[in-house]
Amino acid sequence: MKVRLLHTADVSPGHVRSAFSGLAPPLVPGESLPHRGSFASFYDRARAQYDAFGVLETVPAPEPGWLNLLLLGADLFVPALTYVFGLSHLAGGRGILSVSRLKPPEENELSERVLVHRLRVEVAHELGHAAGLVHCAVNDCAMHRSLWPESVDLKNPEFCASCRARLPEAP
Ligand SMILES: [Zn+2]
Ligand SMILES: [Zn+2]
Repeated sequence: MKVRLLHTADVSPGHVRSAFSGLAPPLVPGESLPHRGSFASFYDRARAQYDAFGVLETVPAPEPGWLNLLLLGADLFVPALTYVFGLSHLAGGRGILSVSRLKPPEENELSERVLVHRLRVEVAHELGHAAGLVHCAVNDCAMHRSLWPESVDLKNPEFCASCRARLPEAP
């Protein structure tokens, strides 16, 4: 399945490249483009966050064989949770992922490596949902559920054998 990464201006080109270079089979890099949709109207002033369901609707549905993922810097919420890393339409081919909560608190060379790992894991996670995968009990599978950034560190940016078997191969 080919991946189209849409991105907002607050996501660095290096992070877009890292997300692409970390894709594991059967995901393959397709293209990266600036996001054209505006989600300003989904800003919640009281929470100082964006409504993830609204932002997700600004991502166009992809053509067959493709998955569309929006990478953004803005912090996301859903009504029941303090924040979410991302959100996807299950088997709908599209999703969103924020780098906001993935950043470690300090900025140094190690924290950049941690961030890139988390980014690759959660890119795989949201793309997996977009391709139809649900959460997985295997601890280090990308589809394992993570509620905290630190728990993302325990996963790989890859799908376990049983998740992989549920995904179509790249054309
Ligand atoms: Zn999930
Ligand atoms: Zn799995």
